[in-house]
Amino acid sequence: MKRGKVFVISGPSGVGKGTLCAELMRRYPELAATTVSVTTRAPRPGEVDGVHYYFRTEAQFDEMLAAEMFLETVNKFTHRYGTLLSEVEKVLDAGKNVILEIEMLGGANVKKRISDAVLIFILPPTLAALTDRIVGRGSETEAQIRLRQAQVEEEFDQADPYEYFVVNDDLAEAVENVRAIIVAEGLKADGKDVKKNYFGRN
Ligand code: ADP
Ligand code: 5GP
Repeated sequence: MKRGKVFVISGPSGVGKGTLCAELMRRYPELAATTVSVTTRAPRPGEVDGVHYYFRTEAQFDEMLAAEMFLETVNKFTHRYGTLLSEVEKVLDAGKNVILEIEMLGGANVKKRISDAVLIFILPPTLAALTDRIVGRGSETEAQIRLRQAQVEEEFDQADPYEYFVVNDDLAEAVENVRAIIVAEGLKADGKDVKKNYFGRN
């Protein structure tokens, strides 16, 4: 069975990464699967442990780190986040592509460990639209919104290792563009391997 690839989806807070990934999975459930990360932040209203994140204490996070359970971790917005190796392996072993919806430093670290991981950066149509979306989501306090806004420019600075840039203006179009990237990346192959498949030799 062909093993899936790892796709990282990043972009500034509020750009619509979560919305886009959920819609991609809803429309194309066979294409890929997302993973559940660990975080030390408190759940937002409606967030469920084990579904949106594994919500853990700082001490629990430290234990998991010491046990080398993470593919990558990051400190952001005064909280810690980490991608579990077991979550990624579970999806790859099932022959599916993995989608990691993580921030940019995490993306760069994934690329260092998995060289054929594909990094996709989601852009807002304008910076004003980005602010509207963060405020409109209504899940952060004013202080948290200011902190996230202050970091937007820095977040763009971290886009260098990213290979694909998708504007999330019309959601359906953005979903189709991400799907196109995943499909095209799945068609990449080494010509020698292709020949071996047909003739049993290089
Ligand atoms: P992120 O996961 O990047 O922080 P979210 O998925 O939570 O962002 O989206 C932030 C807000 O923007 C949400 O209220 C969501 O409904 C809205 N949103 C997402 N995509 C679009 C879009 N294409 N057009 C308009 N609003 C959008
Ligand atoms: P939020 O608190 O809004 O859910 O997430 C804040 C940021 O952390 C988002 O950019 C999100 O993509 C990122 N994030 C979530 N889980 C992980 C993770 O496991 N690793 C990294 N590096 N970033 C993560």
